[in-house]
Amino acid sequence: MALLDVNHLDVRFALRRGDVQALRDVCFSLDKGERLGIVGESGAGKSVAAFSLLNLIAKPGYIANGSHIVFDGEELVGLSDRALRRIRGHRMSMIFQDPMMTLNPVLSIGEQMIECLKAHRRISKREARKVALEKLQLAQIPAPEARLDQYPHELSGGMRQRVIIAIALLLDPDIIIADEPTTALDVTIQAEVMALLLDLCEKQDVGLILITHDLGVVSQVTERMLVMYAGRVIEQGPTREIINNPLHPYTQGLIQALPQMATPGSRLNQIPGSMPSLDKLPSGCAFHPRCPFATLDDGRPRPGCRDQVPPLTGADARQVSCHMVAENKPVQADQSAPAKEAH
Ligand code: SF4
Repeated sequence: MALLDVNHLDVRFALRRGDVQALRDVCFSLDKGERLGIVGESGAGKSVAAFSLLNLIAKPGYIANGSHIVFDGEELVGLSDRALRRIRGHRMSMIFQDPMMTLNPVLSIGEQMIECLKAHRRISKREARKVALEKLQLAQIPAPEARLDQYPHELSGGMRQRVIIAIALLLDPDIIIADEPTTALDVTIQAEVMALLLDLCEKQDVGLILITHDLGVVSQVTERMLVMYAGRVIEQGPTREIINNPLHPYTQGLIQALPQMATPGSRLNQIPGSMPSLDKLPSGCAFHPRCPFATLDDGRPRPGCRDQVPPLTGADARQVSCHMVAENKPVQADQSAPAKEAH
């Protein structure tokens, strides 16, 4: 049995003009120690998916009936906030893009770590300080003893994110959910912080759910990946297989848009158009206004693309939501329509 099993996850936002569905029928699982990437452009729903795992969706958002999030055999949907606190930070921790979202600016690093330990464990202040120090050392923070008495604003961005990683590991979690953990950092230290996170997850046998718009990072770091578009999973499977042979036209577009796919000296490729707003989703396949295959060679619309939501089909290990793929005409990346140039 998987450590985490997410089934038919629907998240909605109750707005005055009616409910807006932010996630539709999202299903995935994570085994112990596994690394899973969730990719997509802004607005695809990847962060909502991450936040909903710990029921951190702010009102008016809510997880709709029929959704299931089973962690280590326990259903999390419907648990009280108090019951969820047993799991949050303790068995599943979260790393946010901006460390200042997690750190309290008026408490020293040591006070924050000790407070967190004491909230979850019967432990003296002295013991808690010792554990905090060990975790800072684990996160390769120089002069860890001195850092315990420093305040967040006294640390560099990279050092703050290392502290966040140390805090995420504080209670020896089973899973870390990292939402764009390096996006806010200087390019020079992004790789360093990501390598540290991976190394620690591997050594501590911690599962990682990495949320990012950066397909390059996902391809290097994760074993399996989900590609999201307009609140739905549109392709999922082993990362290597998807990168080497993307089946969904959107995934193909994301891969074509990687900087390394551009000819040196030319502009980057990009997918034409933009992610639709969740309250104005196109009919049928939400990607159809941007998809080069929604129209057949003779100018007729491809059957189903404009009026039927394509189901996610395929073997368990590899699933795709596309009428064309279902027709058994896999799209080859080199057959895709020429990518438009970025301006
Ligand atoms: Fe393109 Fe149609 Fe496939 Fe959607 S279902 S990705 S519009 S070919």
